[in-house]
Amino acid sequence: MDTKKIPYKIYLNEEEMPQFWYNMRADMKNKPAPLLNPGTLKPCTAEELEHVFCRELVKQELNETDRYIPIPQEILDFYKMYRPSPLTRAYCLEKKLGTPAKIYYKFEGNNTSGSHKLNSAIAQAFYAKEQGLKGVTTETGAGQWGTAMSMACAYLGLDCRVYQVRCSYEQKPHRREVIRTYGAQAIPSPSMETEIGRKINAEYPGCTGSLGCAISEAVEYATKHDGYRYVLGSVLSQVLLHQSIIGMEAKAAMDKYGIKPDVIIGCAGGGSNLGGLISPFMGEKLRGEKDYQFIAIEPASCPSLTRGVFAYDFCDTGEVCPMQKMYTLGSQFMPSANHAGGLRYHGMSAIVSQLYHDGYIEARSVGQTEVFKAAELFCRSEGTLPAPESSHAIKVAIDEALKCKETGEEKTILFGLTGTGYFDMKAYEAFNNGTMSDYIPTDEEIKKATDLIPRFPGNEF
Ligand SMILES: *Cc1c(COP(=O)(O)O)cnc(C)c1O
Repeated sequence: MDTKKIPYKIYLNEEEMPQFWYNMRADMKNKPAPLLNPGTLKPCTAEELEHVFCRELVKQELNETDRYIPIPQEILDFYKMYRPSPLTRAYCLEKKLGTPAKIYYKFEGNNTSGSHKLNSAIAQAFYAKEQGLKGVTTETGAGQWGTAMSMACAYLGLDCRVYQVRCSYEQKPHRREVIRTYGAQAIPSPSMETEIGRKINAEYPGCTGSLGCAISEAVEYATKHDGYRYVLGSVLSQVLLHQSIIGMEAKAAMDKYGIKPDVIIGCAGGGSNLGGLISPFMGEKLRGEKDYQFIAIEPASCPSLTRGVFAYDFCDTGEVCPMQKMYTLGSQFMPSANHAGGLRYHGMSAIVSQLYHDGYIEARSVGQTEVFKAAELFCRSEGTLPAPESSHAIKVAIDEALKCKETGEEKTILFGLTGTGYFDMKAYEAFNNGTMSDYIPTDEEIKKATDLIPRFPGNEF
């Protein structure tokens, strides 16, 4: 097998597509801590969660034991419209770098929504439809999740209300209009339509919003209106489950050619693409079958893994969602207006957090300008214009490849190219004009936000 010439792109055919999602929790010795009800400080019951989330998704959220979960046929059929996604060998980038490393990336930007988020959007819309709901509410930061959710809801005929972080609503009219074209409603957050929105607007006039705040608004609307549930594009364990399709496909493609990655790199906002990409490989590591190096990359402006605390915290600014044990900067942390909107979240997936805590994953943070330099080098050599979020992974993949150039090691590097940058030309404009800022929060700013994390017995940090 090793002697086979590796093509530029490895495509699986439809029959080779994975039929199951892989649930990493089944193989984790230390399971992620349960979600807590902030009122009682007791683990959330399925019944409590079902007020907010669809029934089947609650089951998946709480499922720590089933290793493989069959993907319903309707979802598989939808996946076939834009999957399998290509696994690309970055021959041109390797040549440009002059590295002996072999670089691969899994490109998830080949659908209209432009990112991996569609993998979970269609699953969540499907279970909402199956439950007979009228519609769903959600938030969107950079706009990718709102776009993905509106596509999935249009396909299944569900109503979709998207609370879009205000700075993105204003800076990204294109995404907003894609959302509306697919028939969903885009509402700038903080809005005046919800109690929490009105409260935040009063406290912070002119506030440009945050993911956490938009989440609170979407949850409030869903719980106050019959036939609606809330859906979330990242962070939750169910989302990582759906995103395991990325890793399952990547592994199937690599196995076909006898390739074993040494280093696997993903950008980490809420942790869903990273968790999805590493899933089957991490499964092997957790079961002691094979070893891999996993690296999570976050922006220096919102460094939850590298500078946050491991504690129970609210998932949202409005403190209406369950509490989750995770690496967090505090739900009141307001990241600076980084251009990688999808990475501006104060917390991290409970699964990724636990794996990081237990030493299975490393984390690094990178500055905005160096990320765009990597994006520029990447698009000029590989052709594809990457999303700013994805470019965090590119930056570290390049760093690792350059290390190999020094040491002469022929490592195999796999990274997640989560999306296209077509809708991020404002960010590229700032980079091209040299007006991009590299704000990094001070220790005092972080401490101010982490000091507000609730303290209670069992939540020492
Ligand atoms: C949302 C998004 C991310 C970050 O979200 P995760 O849940 O951490 O994967 C990364 N890249 C793109 C293109 C995104 O849209």
